Amino acid sequence: MQVPFVDLSAQYQSIKSEIDDAIKSVISDTAFIGGKHVKNFEDQFASLYGVKHVISCANGTDSLYIIMKMLGIGKGDEVITAANSWISSSETISQTGATPVFVDVHPEYYSLDEDKLEGIINSSTKALIAVHLQGQVCELDKIKAICDKHGIYLIEDCAQSHFSEYKGKRAGLFGIAASFSFYPGKNLGAYGDAGCIITDNDELAKKCIMYARHGALKKHHHEMEGINSRLDGLQAAILSAKLPHILNWTNKRIENARTYDNCLKQINEIVIPTRREKTKHTYHLYVIRASKRDQLIEYLNLQGVETAIHYPKALPNLQAYNYLGYKPSDFPVASRHQEELVSLPMYPELTKYMIGYVANSINDFYSKYA
Ligand SMILES: *Cc1c(COP(=O)(O)O)cnc(C)c1O
Repeated sequence: MQVPFVDLSAQYQSIKSEIDDAIKSVISDTAFIGGKHVKNFEDQFASLYGVKHVISCANGTDSLYIIMKMLGIGKGDEVITAANSWISSSETISQTGATPVFVDVHPEYYSLDEDKLEGIINSSTKALIAVHLQGQVCELDKIKAICDKHGIYLIEDCAQSHFSEYKGKRAGLFGIAASFSFYPGKNLGAYGDAGCIITDNDELAKKCIMYARHGALKKHHHEMEGINSRLDGLQAAILSAKLPHILNWTNKRIENARTYDNCLKQINEIVIPTRREKTKHTYHLYVIRASKRDQLIEYLNLQGVETAIHYPKALPNLQAYNYLGYKPSDFPVASRHQEELVSLPMYPELTKYMIGYVANSINDFYSKYA
């Protein structure tokens, strides 16, 4: 049996006619850049999130960068981000001219450890990026209180946490602005690169729109220099076609995670994911900690089960950050996790049978090699 890590084709097949119609209408309208499909998606996403402004952009890296740049963050400033994440969560800080400062992750919840924040905030700290890793939201009440106390901006990186919730409220609605990625493999994925910013702040929204559109709100009226970061019509129409299904797909992920939990909880050599209390974890990734991880991955691969590591190196341990002079022991949890974490296949269309097969394969591995 083959169990792929993700299966974007299964999702396409389930809504093929809706996607095909959406693509055809963009082409027949020749609304390739801007236009009604982009506007429709922005409006629909705004109403789903109950937020005033959705600013679509080219990807979920640009959206983070644009937020920080338009908050005036730059040279001499520091921005705190999680020690384990995709590099967008830190490279965008550097892109503004500011310095990324990493905070270790929580040993059980994997997203950033709020108890380690106070020690690294100083007078240069301008913002904190709460990365809701894997679909697991950060401890937002505490984080928000810390940000308010020190007068620093809270920015949420929701690239892995579409429709996750903290105490009944969606992640993305807690800070000054939030960044979303619609990379194809994300919980809400386009058929190419795409992303957006959400915010209730009118002034920031206006600046972000302007900056992402060459510094002009009206064609040829460039109030400043900006960048070109646009969502294209095809991607917008595809995203709109997916929106009516997204909450159902999110629930399927959660159900799949429960099935995994039940099948895996008796295996002593692994630790299944734990959820923060009063949160909705949306399982962009279903991540376990495994002893003999690399051998397990190899064994699963031979059984036809595809896995992935998120991430093989914690951000501060990457060559790109050698210049900051960190040691792995500065981030003991993230550095340990890079040796232990493995992400199992996870997507809405995954069947109980496939999950059972993955679980049995893991069981077999440890009964043979433990
Ligand atoms: C995917 C991702 C991004 C960036 O998204 P792109 O659309 O690929 O640019 C940012 N942060 C995190 C945590 C991500 O997983």
